[in-house]
Amino acid sequence: MSRLSPHIHFGEVSPHQVWYQSQQMESSSGRIKDLEHFLSELGWREFSYNLLFHFPDLIGTNFQKKFDDFPWKDDSDLLERWQKGNTGYPIVDAGMRELWQTGYMHNRVRMVVGSFLVKNLLIDWREGERWFWDCLVDADLANNAASWQWVAGSGADAAPYFRIFNPVTQGTKFDKDGEYTRKFVPELEKLPNKFLFTPWEAPQNVLEEAGIELGKDYPYPIIDLKQSRARALEAFASIKKE
Ligand SMILES: Cc1cc2nc3c(=O)[nH]c(=O)nc-3n(C[C@H](O)[C@H](O)[C@H](O)COP(=O)(O)OP(=O)(O)OC[C@H]3O[C@@H](n4cnc5c(N)ncnc54)[C@H](O)[C@@H]3O)c2cc1C
Repeated sequence: MSRLSPHIHFGEVSPHQVWYQSQQMESSSGRIKDLEHFLSELGWREFSYNLLFHFPDLIGTNFQKKFDDFPWKDDSDLLERWQKGNTGYPIVDAGMRELWQTGYMHNRVRMVVGSFLVKNLLIDWREGERWFWDCLVDADLANNAASWQWVAGSGADAAPYFRIFNPVTQGTKFDKDGEYTRKFVPELEKLPNKFLFTPWEAPQNVLEEAGIELGKDYPYPIIDLKQSRARALEAFASIKKE
């Protein structure tokens, strides 16, 4: 995570410069794996630009046309809960609040919140694209559109439709010690790690000790993960054969 994205976007530094400079720096430090990963991220950027150049409609229309019939749900209340970071899923809320407060979000968390919007909530990826466009300091036509289509499964080299991130396991993996989540969702600060990503499972006395009343200080989950996952798979299956 270099945090170079806004600087590359605004042309303060060229991707070519980053490509060559990083190889010089990393070959002396020997962290070749990190370098390969970093260069592959620059490759994704090139891929997105190439896509946008050849398919200028990428910004607002499905790259895979079968997605034109996708049964998206129009729900402004759920959309707003997602935008404001009030979904009841701590890693999603941390990401969305980080975005609102700082204009940035780690790539992994972008994928988690994106998957939550289009797969668990079944809200059209273009809503997410619009919100990111408004909030990101690195908002970039090519990267944003290509990434949202990747998340939705409608893109050129998209995540398979059945790949639905689980915000609980992702939270535990991405933010093991809970530092990131507690920073952006401070109402959960005192909740022990064991329940940080599943506050609704915490016993009443644990919640009380942490000073949390669910539904008042922090929301109950706005959607059931298991049911919404099954609903998403059904929705994706309905357009699969077309
Ligand atoms: C839903 C979604 C929306 C996104 N919207 C944008 C956006 O509007 N603007 C944007 O620059 N990136 C976007 N990305 C890609 C990626 O999240 C950011 O580029 C990255 O998090 C920026 O942090 P960094 O500079 O530390 O990245 P690093 O990991 O250090 O990567 C180096 C550079 O490679 C490029 N890059 C990294 N990952 C990607 C990727 N997956 N796709 C394309 N280019 C990449 C960026 O220019 C980045 O600065 C989006 C990803 C998702 C999942």
